[in-house]
Amino acid sequence: MTIFCYHSVEPLWESPMAVEPGAFAQQAGWLRRTRRVLPLRDALPRLDTSGRLPRGEAVLTFDDGFTSLHSHVLPVLTREALPATVFLVAQTLTPAGQPVDWVDDPGPEPLDTLSLDQVLEMQDAGVDFESHSWAHHDLTRLTEAECVRDLRESRELLSDLLGRAVTLLAYPRGLHDDKVRRAARTAGYTHAFTLPERAEQVDEHAIPRVGIYRGNGQVAVRVKGARSYLPLRTSPWLACAAGHLRRTGGTGPDAAAEG
Ligand SMILES: [Zn+2]
Repeated sequence: MTIFCYHSVEPLWESPMAVEPGAFAQQAGWLRRTRRVLPLRDALPRLDTSGRLPRGEAVLTFDDGFTSLHSHVLPVLTREALPATVFLVAQTLTPAGQPVDWVDDPGPEPLDTLSLDQVLEMQDAGVDFESHSWAHHDLTRLTEAECVRDLRESRELLSDLLGRAVTLLAYPRGLHDDKVRRAARTAGYTHAFTLPERAEQVDEHAIPRVGIYRGNGQVAVRVKGARSYLPLRTSPWLACAAGHLRRTGGTGPDAAAEG
């Protein structure tokens, strides 16, 4: 299997980035019943050279730290006893804060990110928090020095607030190049995660994840986890599967696909 990447889980934001809560609960239940879901750190030594986990193993990650994770993800993780890692945009936790200005299709309601109290409550409940940079800039557009500063400040602030060393990074939008990977290493990250749209070179600072999006049912989650990390949402097969799930309300084929 593989490392899954979610963003938000909420009912009203009709974006590929926002999985419906019911769909997420189904996916989480299916993963708990049929897979061994590992904490991200425990999974790192188990990845093969293509960045994949042994058959039957999976990891859950969430990018951006949206507030909806507190209401729609934490209760499911607790109920199913599943480990997960959330990658936070550090500046959102400063006193001045940062609006969610990095989303292409924000929807009608303003998007919020987790407060420090919510982060600490979730950390106490067993959720792991790591870095998603300082301000969600496209790191490939910064100079190497700017990139090191951005990533170092994020790591230091988050380590301080969380009371433990933050050493894992998810690149904003998964974007990276040689310079960004070097900067991540210089800034003290042992591993960094991408969201590749096609096969790319894998190393400790370019570990692929598979994105799960609104409309993906268990069939899509299972196939995405089992195959390469190509973006199935743009493949003819997934378009076909997603259409089938929509037509049937998403529950029938999901249940049939379990096991
Ligand atoms: Zn992001």
